[in-house]
Amino acid sequence: MGVSCEQLRVEELRMRYEELLEDPSVYPTEANWQFICDHRLEGLGHLLMAKYVTSLDRDELDREELHQVAIEQFPNYLQAVDRLYALEVVYEYSQAPDEVIVDLIRRCRLFDAARLLGWLRQDRVWEVMAVLDVYQPEYEPDDLEAMRALSAAIHRLPAEGRVEERRGLFGVGMKYICPNGHVNAPDAEYCSHSGCGLNAQGLTADQVKRLEVLDTRIDALTHLME
Ligand SMILES: [Zn+2]
Repeated sequence: MGVSCEQLRVEELRMRYEELLEDPSVYPTEANWQFICDHRLEGLGHLLMAKYVTSLDRDELDREELHQVAIEQFPNYLQAVDRLYALEVVYEYSQAPDEVIVDLIRRCRLFDAARLLGWLRQDRVWEVMAVLDVYQPEYEPDDLEAMRALSAAIHRLPAEGRVEERRGLFGVGMKYICPNGHVNAPDAEYCSHSGCGLNAQGLTADQVKRLEVLDTRIDALTHLME
């Protein structure tokens, strides 16, 4: 395989960036980000994600311009590089708050049913449920299979809440006990305690809605691929 002078120059710069970005105090400039995105430089993903996460972590008043630039540019980077690489960067980064990961998956359309099923098996239910309605740019038959497996696994989540007999002020009656142990009317589908809202499977109404979106999407894809 031949290598052009331009390719060589870019690789040399990529290696230089890799070395520089290892230093936690170094943040790319706007021009650096532009170059990195324009050339879709791979191999820098986790280093760049660390810049993004640490910038977001700073109090807004303490953020300097380069932190702001990192916050703006990292999602562009994820959308510039090859999708498989972007998935690897986001799903395999372990030092970011769940909310940050979920937000990146939503904004950069990094839905990937096979990886989400892996998260579900690791009990990362909240993150999985938060991105079920996210699109991905294109779908292959394997993606549809993975989406079906993901949906089936969620539908099989064990019921941790239950309806049982409880003694109260006015005698004994049936109550819905949510997975967090709150006592509700027996016909309540979702816990009514503020900040809880779980059904017997431990899902909120919003999460169930997103699962419905996924199931509808599976049907639509099935029609298109048949
Ligand atoms: Zn509850």
